[in-house]
Amino acid sequence: MANVVVVGAQWGDEGKGKIVDWLSERADVIARFQGGHNAGHTLVIGDTVFKLSLLPSGIVREGKLAVIGNGVVLDPWALFSEIDKLSGQGVSISPDNLIIAENTPLILPLHQDLDTLREEAAGKARIGTTGRGIGPAYEDKVGRRTIRVADLADEETLDARLDRLLAHHDALRSGLGATAIDRVELKARLQDIAPKLLPYARPVWKIMAEARKAGKRILFEGAQGSLLDIDFGTYPYVTSSTTTSGAAASGTGMGPGAIGFVLGIVKAYTTRVGEGPFPTELDDADGQRLGERGHEFGTVTGRKRRCGWFDAVLVRQTCAISGVNGIALTKLDVLDGFETLKICVGYEIDGKRYDYLPTAAALQAKVTPIYEEMDGWQESTEGARSWAELPAAAIKYVRRVEELIQCPVAMLSTSPQRDDTILVTDPFAD
Ligand code: IMP
Repeated sequence: MANVVVVGAQWGDEGKGKIVDWLSERADVIARFQGGHNAGHTLVIGDTVFKLSLLPSGIVREGKLAVIGNGVVLDPWALFSEIDKLSGQGVSISPDNLIIAENTPLILPLHQDLDTLREEAAGKARIGTTGRGIGPAYEDKVGRRTIRVADLADEETLDARLDRLLAHHDALRSGLGATAIDRVELKARLQDIAPKLLPYARPVWKIMAEARKAGKRILFEGAQGSLLDIDFGTYPYVTSSTTTSGAAASGTGMGPGAIGFVLGIVKAYTTRVGEGPFPTELDDADGQRLGERGHEFGTVTGRKRRCGWFDAVLVRQTCAISGVNGIALTKLDVLDGFETLKICVGYEIDGKRYDYLPTAAALQAKVTPIYEEMDGWQESTEGARSWAELPAAAIKYVRRVEELIQCPVAMLSTSPQRDDTILVTDPFAD
């Protein structure tokens, strides 16, 4: 039986929430393996809209085990505020249906401070982060000075971790003109949250191994998108985690063989929040139309998303890097009513044609997209649940996308409602 990994194949905001919800109904275990509360997943179930940041989407369904893996960076205060919000919507969350890896690094207020201070100091060179402290928290993890969930259980360990962490941060803060950390206050806040957090702390790697042995279906829920990956994204305009599929294994403590089907979520056009290169970005009426029809505002920060035509070069690249077996194509209905649609099929840089995005920033800055034009369609595709309900021009568009990215469509989503989906291949059945 295949376990499924869901990854965003563009710059995030591809509509993963709905697809993950659809799949999580069929899964037993739903695990987050990277990122933190910089993510924003919107689920529409009947008349209720759930907005999740840190919690795995499966949490809203009864009888599922939601897992936060070690690859995540966890802000414990954000976690409990999200739990409170969902409880208010009638979702019950306890250590029976949510577990957190003991070795998960924490995001502390000092990480958020540093995120903001750095962005302010960078001026025009800022990354455009979500300001959640994600980057600084990952830096402390690889710098071997982070505080992890399990460290909260023992005061001596916590003291030692705080000493090491604050020696680093106080020096940094003084360089940035900020005051030193109030150690007493930070320790008190951590000791205050510890009894709430520790009951959720478990050896996730072991529970995942047992689940796998028992033949449970596991859904790995990626956040952000492959073009924001720390290695393969448009560096340095990226997030600080591995957003490609390989992280599902290392971010929960499983071998790569645990991954069966990789589902890439792909929006029928392109968007990006924050700074950085975006070859097919539109600054005209077409871009405005995509943003308005697609409601392209960030779930986490409310920022307006940059919009552009579908970039087949980038999606072919990210599908290769994540080993995508099939894509879920979302928001096709946003393209309804365009006379002509454009798809980017290659780049021109200094008179030379490229079939991939080169890494060098100097080359990325000079990319001119090469477009192929296709006829649009005037009919509405919103809510279509079968190919027969789609106009011929829309089917042609989808087929051309598949051809160009060299990957088949497994699912097609035609509205935020979970049942407005055309299923071609069931990722779990593979
Ligand atoms: P950070 O993850 O807050 O460090 O932000 C780094 C970059 O990733 C910025 O360009 C953010 O806008 C982008 N980013 C982070 N999380 C998301 C997301 O969930 N969707 C889309 N973009 C994101």
